[in-house]
Amino acid sequence: MSTPTPEVYERGKGMDAHNQVMREIRSRKEASYDPREPTRVWLDEDNTPDGVKRSLTIILNTGGCRWARAGGCTMCGYVAESVDGGSVSHDALVDQIDVCLEHEAENADEPAELIKIYTSGSFLDEREVGAETRRAIAETFADRERMVVESLPDFVDREKIEDFTDRGLDTDVAIGLETATDRVRHDCVNKYFDFADFEDACAQAARADRESESADAGVKAYLLMKPPFLAEPEAVRDMISSVERCADVEGCHTVSMNPCNVQRYTMVDELYFRDGYRPPWLWSVAHVLEETADVDAIVVSDPVGHGSERGPHNCGECDDLVQKAIKDFDLRQDPSVFEQVSCECELTWETVLERERSFNQPLTR
Ligand code: SF4
Ligand SMILES: [Zn+2]
Repeated sequence: MSTPTPEVYERGKGMDAHNQVMREIRSRKEASYDPREPTRVWLDEDNTPDGVKRSLTIILNTGGCRWARAGGCTMCGYVAESVDGGSVSHDALVDQIDVCLEHEAENADEPAELIKIYTSGSFLDEREVGAETRRAIAETFADRERMVVESLPDFVDREKIEDFTDRGLDTDVAIGLETATDRVRHDCVNKYFDFADFEDACAQAARADRESESADAGVKAYLLMKPPFLAEPEAVRDMISSVERCADVEGCHTVSMNPCNVQRYTMVDELYFRDGYRPPWLWSVAHVLEETADVDAIVVSDPVGHGSERGPHNCGECDDLVQKAIKDFDLRQDPSVFEQVSCECELTWETVLERERSFNQPLTR
């Protein structure tokens, strides 16, 4: 068993106590991987600023999240690799892309218009994906319409985005902002950057957008509803203000607000095990989407693990219905979808919103 250790860039960032605990938790499990296989690949549909598009989502295996090696985010069950950290070569990354293209050719009638690449880290961090590989990937997908690449804000700059926009690809950078409130991001999530860094990254994307004649560039912000230590009403308030603040930033055109789920090997899991954490209610997710329906951005949510104890859930009876309404909202952006769902458990949820506090949570299971 080895304890993950931070690289120089990550050293001294975040909260020492959180990092220490998360390093210890992550060290209980070690990962091994085949650098020539992507972590995951699947086909789906997504709402973009140009309407709903067929998508190919790729989780590239790039040697893993460097922030997780430092300890990292309190809710993320990403399993840190060996002490030295992996580094995946250009050739191996190109092989992974080939595996994804084969998967698409076998399972889809036509090529997807939208390509989304995640890395459990930062696609724009050149320690993970070098400039040569980034450009080769841009070239491979130059005949598609749109790309989404994931990155922490510190690695976002205009020139990297232009590798894609120069090839006519509309480009979105997906940023795991988690919340617009610095205190919550630092103390509850243990992410080291500030909202101002997110604003800077959006400004880089906005500049790439202005300077490209043939393609658009922008940012898709990922928010986390109900990190550990926030009670349900605090989490709801935090999300409403976060969606509003993100939508006001130039360059940020989409907000994906996702409820926290309980992943193994995380601080959230330890709290959950000791009755100190309940994932958010699906009613809370619906409520935030309703309250922010008029902001100037697409707002979507993808409640992973909905209806289960460890995922966002209501009473068990209405979870599928509310989830379906949320998915409808994602595609149509019409808050009236929520008028058609109701359940007796709404009264319990309203009571939780009135009475749950950090020191008495969770009020319900
Ligand atoms: S949430 Fe992202 S940045 Fe945080 S530890 Fe997990 S993979 Fe790394
Ligand atoms: Zn219910």
